Amino acid sequence: MATKIAVVGSTNWDISLKLPRIPRPKETVAGGVSQFSLGGKGANQAVAAAKAGAEVLFVSALGDDGVAQQVRAQLGQLGMSLEGLITIPQTNTGTALIFVDEQGENCIGVADGANAGLTSDHISSVAGLMTNTSHTLIQLEIPMPTVVAAAQAAKAAGSQVILNPAPAAAVDSALLAYSDIVTPNQVEMEQIIGFKINDANDMQKAAAVLLKKGPQVVIVTLGGDGVFVASQTETFTAPGFHVPVMDTTGAGDVFNGSLAVALSEGAALRDAVQFGCAAAALSVGRAGAMSSVPNRAEIQALLA
Ligand code: ADP
Repeated sequence: MATKIAVVGSTNWDISLKLPRIPRPKETVAGGVSQFSLGGKGANQAVAAAKAGAEVLFVSALGDDGVAQQVRAQLGQLGMSLEGLITIPQTNTGTALIFVDEQGENCIGVADGANAGLTSDHISSVAGLMTNTSHTLIQLEIPMPTVVAAAQAAKAAGSQVILNPAPAAAVDSALLAYSDIVTPNQVEMEQIIGFKINDANDMQKAAAVLLKKGPQVVIVTLGGDGVFVASQTETFTAPGFHVPVMDTTGAGDVFNGSLAVALSEGAALRDAVQFGCAAAALSVGRAGAMSSVPNRAEIQALLA
């Protein structure tokens, strides 16, 4: 039977326009190709976890627009439980507008929309559902008080808290105290600890600082260089998988979603990190964020 995890976070509707070049102010650039996709760190991680094999309770806020219906349909098709979704009246679903030029350079604007309306009250209303989950995965694209409430509720429900502190932001000590595992990339790690990491020695020091603030495990993702891991008992690096790179968008989301699944199944830390790296490597070998999320069979094939 699949293990159950909760993902608390954002949902966006991504509108991408591939254009000959990115428009300047007052300019219209024609000749584009459009693409629409479910996105946002919360939805990306929830989908990554569902495709990696877990039963997912996704806690997120949608608008009362047509986009929300499409989002619900897509999440439902993945077999995800929709009981953690809330509709915010007279509000649009979060939206990201992405211009990409022929060189792959991009320029992105985000409207938080319903994501800004996900409150601590909603977390309280779904807290009972969290008692059935082994792990709760949270990011920072929803209001900070809601993030803290989610971590607190998960902890009280006996669910291990995995905090992916992305996008980079200052993180207060109460949130770190509720977090069992923290998974920043290097920039996010520097933002949390307040100094620049120049070498392996700095990384050790940074992890030691963070481990004193509550978490039992710190996992720093390093792009193509893999992952640095420090816990109360061990420190190691995992080199990741070498693959031809197509598009690294959403690599961190796939890593986090699949890491959570492996941990929920009782995998040892090293094996769980390896599972996350394999899933993320598969995603960087393909275009897009949501469209590049691998399924469990693909992850297992790479690990075999
Ligand atoms: P984020 O997307 O949050 O910035 P990273 O860029 O650190 O996160 O990527 C997360 C994980 O995805 C990495 O730890 C690694 O396992 C995998 N990954 C990222 N880029 C590559 C790459 N070029 N080749 C192989 N794996 C990658």
